[in-house]
Amino acid sequence: MENQGKYDTAKQVAEGVYQIQIPTPFSVGPVNVYLVEGEQLTLIDAGPLTEEAWTALTDGLESIGYRVEDIRQLVLTHHHVDHCGLLERVRKASGAKIFSHPLAVPYVELHESFLGFHDRFFLDLYRESGVPEEKLSIIRKFHKLMMTFSERSRIDGLLKHEKPVPHLPEWQVLYTPGHSQSHLSLYRAKDRVMIAGDHIIKHISSNAFIEPPRDQSRSRPLTLVQYRTALQMCADMEIDLVLSGHGDPVHNHRELILQRLQKNWERTDTLRRLLADGEKSAFELTALLFPTLYEKELPLTLSETLGHIDLLLILHQLEIKERDGVLYYSL
Ligand SMILES: [Zn+2]
Ligand SMILES: [Zn+2]
Repeated sequence: MENQGKYDTAKQVAEGVYQIQIPTPFSVGPVNVYLVEGEQLTLIDAGPLTEEAWTALTDGLESIGYRVEDIRQLVLTHHHVDHCGLLERVRKASGAKIFSHPLAVPYVELHESFLGFHDRFFLDLYRESGVPEEKLSIIRKFHKLMMTFSERSRIDGLLKHEKPVPHLPEWQVLYTPGHSQSHLSLYRAKDRVMIAGDHIIKHISSNAFIEPPRDQSRSRPLTLVQYRTALQMCADMEIDLVLSGHGDPVHNHRELILQRLQKNWERTDTLRRLLADGEKSAFELTALLFPTLYEKELPLTLSETLGHIDLLLILHQLEIKERDGVLYYSL
């Protein structure tokens, strides 16, 4: 079918699966959402809450012969705003039921108690990482700005690891945490297709974002360790086609996963070199590791540093000392 709309970005990528590319205002570039035909027409992810994204979604659907109103259910790969921002708008327009990982619920439904805990967790994390006070307000502004690209919505059903997606019996849910605690992927065994969200991306290595634990009684998840484990789980699987949340499809997932895992060790080597002349905080290490990026992208780059510190810590290759509430690492 010919696309008459402004966004000529919808195409069939597997049997009964269409990719619609949606612009985002973020440095990651456009996000891919997927329309899956089955017992019920299902949209995988929705895009950020912007007029441009909404137009791209509706134009994209139209170009493959559907309207938003036709969507019966929506599966969220994870709670980041480039994927969940338009959830409520799609739900209101279509009445679609929304399914997700259980840990996406507080982010999508904006549970007040969780958000308070979330903000306190990050304030404590940034302080103990040695982030200067004047930078904390920048991070707060960043978190606030991110919130404007989504709105409160509702999760109607929770998906379970290794269970089929409701009304799409060929598609199995796989929990793939690390990039986000709420991250899941979908797998269709008959043609070995995986819809992988931000778990596997061809042109960029996914960040294993630091996130608060699910409740206050736990310590924070070691997200990079978790991410590497979930990658290894996928490397063990037979997959011919990975459909990602950003960028082109991946046909050589094992090779790509191996590259990502190796890259982690290279970065831990860099960290060890940076510590050779004495102890440093996570913030100081971040500034050295990402000199051109850390000020603009502090939450992302600090997550990257902390993840690699975690890898070294679990291998007993670092010492930690606390001084005035800041953690300092040394070899
Ligand atoms: Zn993401
Ligand atoms: Zn994304």
